[in-house]
Amino acid sequence: MKRFVHTVLSQRVVFGAGTFAELGDELTRFDGQRALVLSTPDQRLLAQATAAKLGAKAVGVFDRAAMHVPIETVDAARSFARSLGADCVVAVGGGSTIGLAKALALEPGLRVVAVPTTYAGSEMTPIYGITESGAKRTGRDPRVLPSTVIYDPDLTRSLPAATSVMSGINAVAHAAEALYAVDRSPITDLLAQEGIAALARAVPVLARSMADVSAVQEQARVDALYGAWLCGSVLGSVSLALHHKLCHILGGSFDLPHAHTHAIVLPHALAYNAAAAPDAMRKIRRALGGESAAQGAYDLAAGAGLSMAMRDIGFKAEDLDSACRLALEHPYPNPRALEPRAIRQLLQDAFDGVRPVR
Ligand code: NAD
Repeated sequence: MKRFVHTVLSQRVVFGAGTFAELGDELTRFDGQRALVLSTPDQRLLAQATAAKLGAKAVGVFDRAAMHVPIETVDAARSFARSLGADCVVAVGGGSTIGLAKALALEPGLRVVAVPTTYAGSEMTPIYGITESGAKRTGRDPRVLPSTVIYDPDLTRSLPAATSVMSGINAVAHAAEALYAVDRSPITDLLAQEGIAALARAVPVLARSMADVSAVQEQARVDALYGAWLCGSVLGSVSLALHHKLCHILGGSFDLPHAHTHAIVLPHALAYNAAAAPDAMRKIRRALGGESAAQGAYDLAAGAGLSMAMRDIGFKAEDLDSACRLALEHPYPNPRALEPRAIRQLLQDAFDGVRPVR
C-alpha cells in the first residue's frame, strides 16, 4: 500500500425513511433556535411545510435559491437572515439550495443542516461556489461543510424519473473520478466503489415512471441516496480531474444543465483516461457492470432513456473549439496528460452522443 493522507470530515449523518421528522431534534442537539429555511421556488411548499414543522424554531423561509448561487441571491439571503436574527439555516433541496446555505455559512457564519432531495452530493463537501458577473468563484473551506445531514429517501419521491437518473449519474461521476484522483486513499476507494454499485442498482429502477410506488422502487430510492452520500463523501475528500473540469466549463461557460452534462460527458472522460488508469477502470467496470468502465457508464445512462448527445441539450457545434480551448487552460490533475486533439475528439464524441468503442 502506498503512503496516503486521508482527512476525516466531521459531520453528523442521519439516514433513513422518515428521518426528516427528526429535524427539530437535530436542531436541538446543537441548540439551534432560529432557523432560516432555504429552498428553490420549485420547492417552496416543502420549505413552508418544513418551517411549519419546526414551529417556533423556524424564523422564516427564503425560497429563491438558484443554480450556480448568484451573488444577488446570496446578498438577499444574507440580509434576510440578519434581519430575522437567524442562528442556523436548514437547506431542503438539491445542490443549488445547499450551495446557498454554504454561502451563508461563510458569512454571517451560520451553521447548516442539509436535507438533500437530489443525489448531487454537495452536502458532503467543503466546496462552495458563488457566481458574480458571470464567473463562478469556487473554493474549499471547512466552515461550509453542513454540520448535520438528514437523508430521507421519502423526500426524493417527487423527483421526476429523468432528473433522478441524471442526478444519480452525476453522483457516479464523483466516485469514478475519485478512483483515479491523485490524492485518493484506500478509504475513498472503498467508498467510491460501494457508492457506484449502489447507484448502478438504483438508476435503472428510478428510470421507471414516478407512478411506480412498489417496494422495489422504494428500495431504489434508499440505494440511490446511500450511493449519493458515499459519492458525495469522496468528492469532498479528493481532487477533481478531467471529467469535472469539462463539466464545469460546459455548465459555467455554455450554460448546459449540470446533471445531464455529467451523464453525457462521463463515458468519454473515462474512455480518455482508460489506458492511464487501468486499476481504477477495473473497479468502475466491476461496480457498474458491462464490458468496460466507459461503456458501463454510457449504457447506464442511455439504458435509462437519457439523450446522450450534447447537441440535444443546447450545445452548439460552433462552440466545440472554444470549449476545447477552455478545457486545456488551468487543467486539473489527471491520469493522462491533456492532448489537444484527443480532448477535441472527446468533446466531438460527447456532442454526437456516440457510445465509446471500448
Ligand atoms: P438543483 O439543486 O438545481 O435542483 C434542480 C431542480 O430540481 C430545482 O428546481 C429543484 O427545486 C428541483 N428539485 C430538487 N429536488 C427535488 C425533489 N425531490 N422533487 C422535485 N423537485 C426537486 O440541482 P442539483 O443537480 O441537485 O444541483 C446542481 C448544483 O449543485 C450545481 O450548481 C452544482 O455546481 C452544485 N453542486 C455543488 C457541489 C459542491 O460540492 N459544492 C456538488 C455537487 C453539485
